[in-house]
Amino acid sequence: MGQKQTSGYCAHCQKNVMATGTTPSHLLHLILSLLTAGLWIPIWILVSIGKIGGYRCTQCGNRV
Ligand SMILES: [Zn+2]
Repeated sequence: MGQKQTSGYCAHCQKNVMATGTTPSHLLHLILSLLTAGLWIPIWILVSIGKIGGYRCTQCGNRV
């Protein structure tokens, strides 16, 4: 898994901060989808659209 970075407003710090997140490994999710006969696909979609493993503030760790 790689790292992704963005800037966003942190409600905790009350300012715009840099935020980092983990990029989903699509190969890993593909393998999991095959192993679970497709049951993993909804989780893969949630990860892809950022519902799981979104960005976190680099200063306080809060979700951005
Ligand atoms: Zn913060």
